[in-house]
Amino acid sequence: MKRSAADVWEELRNQVDFLAEAGGGFVLRRPEDGLEAARRKALEGMDAQVRDCKLCALHTLRTKAVPGEGDRSAELMFVGEAPGRDEDLQGRPFVGRAGQLLRKIVAAMTFREDEVFITNVVKCRPPDNREPFREEIEACAPYLERQIELIRPRVIVTLGKTAADRFVPGRGGMGERRGRFGDYRGIPVMPTFHPSYLIRNEGDRALKRMVWEDMKQVMALLGRK
Ligand code: SF4
Repeated sequence: MKRSAADVWEELRNQVDFLAEAGGGFVLRRPEDGLEAARRKALEGMDAQVRDCKLCALHTLRTKAVPGEGDRSAELMFVGEAPGRDEDLQGRPFVGRAGQLLRKIVAAMTFREDEVFITNVVKCRPPDNREPFREEIEACAPYLERQIELIRPRVIVTLGKTAADRFVPGRGGMGERRGRFGDYRGIPVMPTFHPSYLIRNEGDRALKRMVWEDMKQVMALLGRK
């Protein structure tokens, strides 16, 4: 009978465990364990770079840069615009009111917070929460690109226009652009409204329904129906 790769691996591990117990001093690692470690190390190195980054003028105004957080091999990545006041103080993404709403959406999608990765287009807070300038977005872009390369999510959800423009540029407001998958280097991208927009329009149930419709499409693609 043909044995599966998992069976072969298990047998090999048992043999090596036995030899190790017998004093052989062996350590058996799957090839992907090494890759995984290298990937994590690269992401951690990048986080440190972001925290020290002075590539654009936003570094002069920040309290803390916000590289992003979550599962470093997440299948689902959320990308917002930029850190706000609370995020700047804590060095963590989406921790203010908009963040609480995003975290509720993540839970409603049947994901744990630590199963997804959350970040922004720019990693330092623009003053008075203004939109980031083009040159700030361009300066910061390699960090986001590298995060995507290393994390390799199966789906990206963009929150608000700045993030949508980065991945699936198009005309019109978010009302016209949301709800349809775009493509970024082979990764499906779902543009939707930013949670802070939902908060600013708290009584608008239709907006919430639209975001939920978008998220249901993402869940279906990820087999989370
Ligand atoms: S916003 Fe990005 S490019 Fe600008 S200083 Fe912060 S990390 Fe560097």
